[in-house]
Amino acid sequence: MKAILIFFCFWFSVSAWANQLESIRVWPSPDTTRIVLDMSSAPDHEYFMLSDPHRLVVDLRQTKNRVKFSAIKNTSELITKVRNSTPPTASSYRLVFELKDSVKPVVFPLSPAGDYGHRLVIDLPYSDSNLQRKPIVRKPAPMGQREVVIAIDAGHGGEDPGAVGPKKNHEKHVTLAISRRLAALINKEPGMRAVMTRTGDYYVNLNKRSEIARKGRADLLLSIHADSVANRGPRGASVWVLSSNRANREMAGWLEKQERQSELLGGVGEVISQTDGNPYLTRTFLDLSMDKSRADSYAISEHILSAMSKVVRLHKSKPAHASLAVLKSPDIPSLLIEAGFISNPQEERLLLTASHQQKVAQAVFDGVKSYYRQNPPSGTMMANKAAGKPQKHTVRTGESLSLIAKRYGVSVTQLKGHNSLKSDVVRIGQVLDIPRS
Ligand SMILES: [Zn+2]
Repeated sequence: MKAILIFFCFWFSVSAWANQLESIRVWPSPDTTRIVLDMSSAPDHEYFMLSDPHRLVVDLRQTKNRVKFSAIKNTSELITKVRNSTPPTASSYRLVFELKDSVKPVVFPLSPAGDYGHRLVIDLPYSDSNLQRKPIVRKPAPMGQREVVIAIDAGHGGEDPGAVGPKKNHEKHVTLAISRRLAALINKEPGMRAVMTRTGDYYVNLNKRSEIARKGRADLLLSIHADSVANRGPRGASVWVLSSNRANREMAGWLEKQERQSELLGGVGEVISQTDGNPYLTRTFLDLSMDKSRADSYAISEHILSAMSKVVRLHKSKPAHASLAVLKSPDIPSLLIEAGFISNPQEERLLLTASHQQKVAQAVFDGVKSYYRQNPPSGTMMANKAAGKPQKHTVRTGESLSLIAKRYGVSVTQLKGHNSLKSDVVRIGQVLDIPRS
């Protein structure tokens, strides 16, 4: 009897160990495609690449598949087909991803976080230049011809939904919608240009976000979010800047916890710790550039709050402080804007409407513009204009007369008349006098 019982216990525990593949999600981004395998327990796996045709093979030991391949939403240009194949042992499951190109996969497991359980993450960085939509690398503009560049960081994305409202709306969609509206306003403004850290529904880790801002030669990084707290009461927008001390207020601590959670959900394979994680962070608090960035961040946030106070409800009328990794670039002033509380039922509804998103974007834009009007960075078109200097423009690769006219807020006719041009054709290196608009 005892023997039978032991046998049963043994048999039961073996079957309980068996893993299940519950879903397969595909997240294409501009430079990688991420595949996420949702598992019922921690994956025991192996993978390799095959060529002719290119394939990624993933073996999952002790695993049963519950996924219908036809149900996988695949919008990746890299993955042409997902199927199974004969596994090396009877108890394992073999997945095959047919690919357009050869890749070097980065594979790592993620422990349960938020609504997610165990996951196996497979990142496929593009090597094919056809697939990789590289950002345009711009040469530095001549003195006085540079635009003020605002990096806009739509919080969360892809695997990481951010906060989830009472009606199950995801923060990541709200942040992207507001960011797109804000970018459109900035790009319409002569002398200003926007760079976005993400342009679709995919995850970008925090270090990559600052890197995109830095590569875009950004003067300012604005990270857009929507708050969430357990209590549905709080509402209103707020603006956060970096504090040098560990945040002591409850809300700041909560935000910092959410940021770490976000990295866990989004999956960088490791959690940011308090002091490392960002190579620029260590000891840079003593750095003068950091002090300058922080002073600028604070001044800009006051302009934004003042513009926002006219059109939206504020949760805090003063800039608040938190120790967030996304704010820690020592060389770029950085702010985090909470557009409102998605955890508040009324604000969740508001944040989803185009009119409210536009209101928030417009207020942030007005604040940023008012700051840079008063404090134009040296070497920019805005600084030249503020100093009343005659504006000149040296034509660069890919620039047309209409593009130049738009950048300076003048008409093509005005530009042609002012420079006695007979045609619309301009050549690289040609210097144009810009009429006062
Ligand atoms: Zn957020």
